[in-house]
Amino acid sequence: MIITAVTPFMPAAARGPSDWRGWMGQICVRLETDTGLMGYGMGGGGEAGLHVIDTVLRQCLIGVDAEPIEELWEQMYAATLPFGRKGLAIMAQSAVDLALWDLRAKSQATTVAALLGDEPKRRLPMYRTISKDADATRWLGEIEEAVAAGYTAVKIGGLGQMHPSHDADTIVAMLTSARRLIGPDVGLMADVGMRWHDVDAVIGLCQRLEEIDLSWLEEPLPADDLDGYARVTSASAVPIAGGEHEFTARGFAELMARGAHHIYQPDVCWCGGLTQLLEIYRLAQVNHVRVCPHRGSEAWSLPALQTVDPQPLAESGRPWMAWVGGGRSPSAQVEATATLGFGVDERSLEAARDLG
Ligand SMILES: [Mg+2]
Repeated sequence: MIITAVTPFMPAAARGPSDWRGWMGQICVRLETDTGLMGYGMGGGGEAGLHVIDTVLRQCLIGVDAEPIEELWEQMYAATLPFGRKGLAIMAQSAVDLALWDLRAKSQATTVAALLGDEPKRRLPMYRTISKDADATRWLGEIEEAVAAGYTAVKIGGLGQMHPSHDADTIVAMLTSARRLIGPDVGLMADVGMRWHDVDAVIGLCQRLEEIDLSWLEEPLPADDLDGYARVTSASAVPIAGGEHEFTARGFAELMARGAHHIYQPDVCWCGGLTQLLEIYRLAQVNHVRVCPHRGSEAWSLPALQTVDPQPLAESGRPWMAWVGGGRSPSAQVEATATLGFGVDERSLEAARDLG
């Protein structure tokens, strides 16, 4: 199966931000082959990601066999090595890798989930991510809604707007009110989004958060502060999560070797695609650490998540990702709905234009 055309593009969607850091900064790629089969993948990096695919990755792909994916992955990684390794070059490569996996499944007339050995399909519990803002009525209302819909866990994002020591009382009060609202049996997580820098303050705050029974505190520090993470993670009884901003299995291997997190959250559309995600899951097993992927309910992540044991938990997806399955669901569970590959076709891409 020879690759004959490589077309990266930004799917048009209502309200899609043009900034490459924004949601629709996610990019798609279509790979055409001499068999007539087409593979689709999603990555990141926006306009810059499109440029990487157009100018560098295309040269690794046109006129070559779509297999073995693992060798093509290493060739693409080598081609971007001087400026790549982490960040948008790997985000762009993730799209190509996923498109190759889409082709691998389609060429065997099966789904990616079936390729990974998930039989029969499992319905997975989802947790709902909710952004905190000044309007407590809104986000506390959203938490109530999620619990009423059967979600077994909720995550509050936006803690990074506050300071871990100056605002510690406010943070503790806020999370305590959320805990009271949902009761003791629903999981509660909080996301800082890499905004805190004071390691001692974070350690102090984690001690105060113990009584709230958080399932995890996510990305309290910038992704590169591995010393800080190692200190916080070894000191904190509250599990520390992170990794959505780490890249490749090599990157995750270093995080695990340093004991940076208790829970690892690779994003398959950013970390290097499914080829890397599978290796990250393998590393997690060897190191006896948990994985809970970023945006795990989306179509690209779900096939692999279904193979993770024990207790896979899927994060609710971006609303606009509903066009490829997964995404925000009225139900608190999600399952892979693809009948071929990842389940993406031209019609679902077309439907993206109507979603905001
Ligand atoms: Mg996060």
